[in-house]
Amino acid sequence: MNAPKEGICMAYESVNPYDGKTVRTFSELTNAQLEKKIATAAACYETWKKTPYAKRAVIVARAGELMRANVDKFARLATIEMGKLINESRGEVSFSANILAYYAKNAERFLAPVKLNPTHGEAYVESSPIGVIFCVEPWNFPYYQLARVAGPQLMAGNILMVKHASCVPQCAIEFEKLWIEAGAPKGLYTNLLISHEQSDQVIDDPRIKGVALTGSLAAGQSVSARAGKNLKVSSMELGGSDAFIVLEDADLEKTIPWAVWGRMYNNGQTCCAAKRFVVVDEIADQFLAKFKAALEALKPGDPMDEKTTHGPLSTEAALLQLVKQVELAVTNGARIVLGGKRLNRTGSFMERTILTDVTPENPAFRDEFFGPVAMFFRVKDEAAAIALANDSDFGLGGSVFTKDVERGKRVATQVETGMMFINNIDWSDAELPFGGIKDSGYGRELGNMGIQTFVNKKLVRTHDMPAPLV
Ligand code: NAP
Repeated sequence: MNAPKEGICMAYESVNPYDGKTVRTFSELTNAQLEKKIATAAACYETWKKTPYAKRAVIVARAGELMRANVDKFARLATIEMGKLINESRGEVSFSANILAYYAKNAERFLAPVKLNPTHGEAYVESSPIGVIFCVEPWNFPYYQLARVAGPQLMAGNILMVKHASCVPQCAIEFEKLWIEAGAPKGLYTNLLISHEQSDQVIDDPRIKGVALTGSLAAGQSVSARAGKNLKVSSMELGGSDAFIVLEDADLEKTIPWAVWGRMYNNGQTCCAAKRFVVVDEIADQFLAKFKAALEALKPGDPMDEKTTHGPLSTEAALLQLVKQVELAVTNGARIVLGGKRLNRTGSFMERTILTDVTPENPAFRDEFFGPVAMFFRVKDEAAAIALANDSDFGLGGSVFTKDVERGKRVATQVETGMMFINNIDWSDAELPFGGIKDSGYGRELGNMGIQTFVNKKLVRTHDMPAPLV
């Protein structure tokens, strides 16, 4: 993106991927407008940091209630801007409301002073806010990603400035309005329609004290480097290529629906989606036949129609990239068992696709397919499944399906990721930490851990003793 010129840059665009029509366009902020917003946010911090938890909770809980009361309004915007199936959009809005309610209720307890037991005197660690936090967020969960930072950070006493993805400006603006309607003081939550260059300026600004990003590896590398140069604390929630391990004793009646959901939820555009299906030889043919049939049964169509089970990708650019990745995989020896092309219809639709014979030399082996493309691997046994799951640059999540839960737990322990799921891929809950290792980033969001990153852990010690002689 280019540096913005006063009022003429149209980088933020709402384009409906179902029909390719542009709904609205928005100008990026000028540097002068950006400066004013940062100043307002910094001023807001001076009062918000002293605002008691109970008062913060009223606003954060109210924002959650407003989301719940307007589920359809929020949901329709997400479906229009990025193609999410309408029922999934509604689910996302309700879940976002839950996250806000959860932190409104629990933040004070999570950040209560922790008493220590030194040999001499008394000591405790208290948690205090650090200031304005800058967040860069992706389009694939246009509200949940925002709630995931807003709930904990605002309750901790921090201030938020958020650069949302350029294809979901209406969702971003609606979420900002929510805070005004909830009674937030001016500057508590600010949406920033800014370029990448301006994002760097924000990170460099001394009034910004922390940086959180959810997005691709490339964005994470760029933004975390900038934060590091400025010695600012950061958290990075990046991509993944999660293994879906099916052991020979798995119950396929239960496993197949999870495999379909794991690959197809959000039209296949979830960071922790099941992307590599690693199946023990004994059950592999059966699994592949059933998985293929179940994918074939899905119905592409208007994501606004509740009967549709396969919607478009978020943008035409995302579709073109995915098609190119599949073509490259095939050029390098992968075999297509299902799909492989764009769907022959209007809109940015990708066929449900299964690739087999993806060898470690194939670039696809290490790639993240962000859409309805499943890689299928046949392995000889449990040990080989674990080895293949770990042969990835990513380390976000993963799952294992087996009738023996204890065996599932043993496998989970050996897979090198931030999250593992046994006989489910029920990925996210307000109470549970979310995040990865390796190229999937660092830090955790949600749960108690999700509120601890951007707070000062201050040691306070009392010890009545004479000063040592020098
Ligand atoms: P993306 O291109 O990295 O975009 C994510 C956000 O980062 C957008 O707001 C984007 O802004 C911004 N951005 C990109 N490069 C930037 C830079 N150099 N400086 C400042 N901002 C920058 O990712 P995406 O393709 O939209 O999202 C999909 C990726 O996110 C996948 O890899 C997925 O796995 C990952 N993801 C991870 C999680 C998790 O929790 N681990 C959750 C959801 C998604 P623009 O739109 O203006 O470019």
